[in-house]
Amino acid sequence: MHNLEYTVLGVVGLLLLSLIVMQLVKFLREIKERRTALGTLEKSNCHECGETSSQFYVFRNCRCFGIAPLASAWEVNKRETFLCDPCAQRVAIDECKKTGLYGGWGFPGFLAVLFYTIGNIYVLSRNKTANAKTVFWCIVVGVLVPWLVLAIAIVLMVVVIRIWN
Ligand SMILES: [Zn+2]
Repeated sequence: MHNLEYTVLGVVGLLLLSLIVMQLVKFLREIKERRTALGTLEKSNCHECGETSSQFYVFRNCRCFGIAPLASAWEVNKRETFLCDPCAQRVAIDECKKTGLYGGWGFPGFLAVLFYTIGNIYVLSRNKTANAKTVFWCIVVGVLVPWLVLAIAIVLMVVVIRIWN
C-alpha cells in the first residue's frame, strides 16, 4: 500500500512546515517585544482595567505540535503585567485556555499542558490571588480539555487505521 506512505510523508511535511512558521512567528515577536519591553513594565496600575491596587504577574502559555524528536514545533509565550486581583484570576484562566488550545497536540505537549497550568496557578498563589474557582477552571481548560481531545483523536485515528486495513 503506497497510500500509507504518502499519508506519513504528508503529515511529516505539515509538521515541518508548522515548525518553520512557528519559529518565524517567534522570531518576529521577540523583535517586537524587545522594542516595547521598556515602556510596559513601568506602569503600576492594573493593565486590564486601570485599578490602582495591582501586583506584578508573569503568566506563561505554551504551544506544541507534533511528536518530539521526530517533528515538532514548540513555543512558550510570556505575559508580564500588573493586574488587580479579579483581572489576575481572569488572565490566569485565559492563559491556561491558550495552553489547553495549542499546547497539547502531541509529545511532550500533553505533559507540558500540566506543567504550564500548574505554573500559572503557582504564580497566582504566590501573590495570594488563587481561589478554588479559578484553580478549578485553570485545570479544566488547561489540562482536562486537551487530554480529553487528545484521547478522542487517538481513538479516532485507531478506528480509521482499522477501517483502512
Ligand atoms: Zn484589573
